[in-house]
Amino acid sequence: MSSAPVTGSCLCGSVKFEATAPFAAFRYCHCSRCRKASGSAHAANLFVPETQFKWTAGESLLKRFPHPQSERFAVSFCTNCGTRMPHKVNTTDNMLIPAGVLDADPETRPTNSIFWKSKSAWYISPHELPKFGDYK
Ligand SMILES: [Zn+2]
Ligand SMILES: [Zn+2]
Repeated sequence: MSSAPVTGSCLCGSVKFEATAPFAAFRYCHCSRCRKASGSAHAANLFVPETQFKWTAGESLLKRFPHPQSERFAVSFCTNCGTRMPHKVNTTDNMLIPAGVLDADPETRPTNSIFWKSKSAWYISPHELPKFGDYK
């Protein structure tokens, strides 16, 4: 594989990284921890082997919060702007990339939604909502 890396960055632009396909998995997660960590209905978690990932700026600004009751769950974020950033997943060789922080299309698509039973009561499939091209 020799595809060009996809880049990602935080809101303030201090932290940057790049990741190269092939990706290990891409899924939406509706678990209660992902909902809190993302502040949204679900996380969009893209996984890539650590060997295909590298920080290109601002790594020293990262802070990791390992969830105290979990072996694996953690979040990492830019301490300047608070944007979620990728982190190494304990007990695996993968980095978890919150896909919303990518700067371009990773050219892979989510394949499933997990923890569907935990989805928020107010979640409605986007297919059921009216669409507007811009702010309304
Ligand atoms: Zn930042
Ligand atoms: Zn989750």
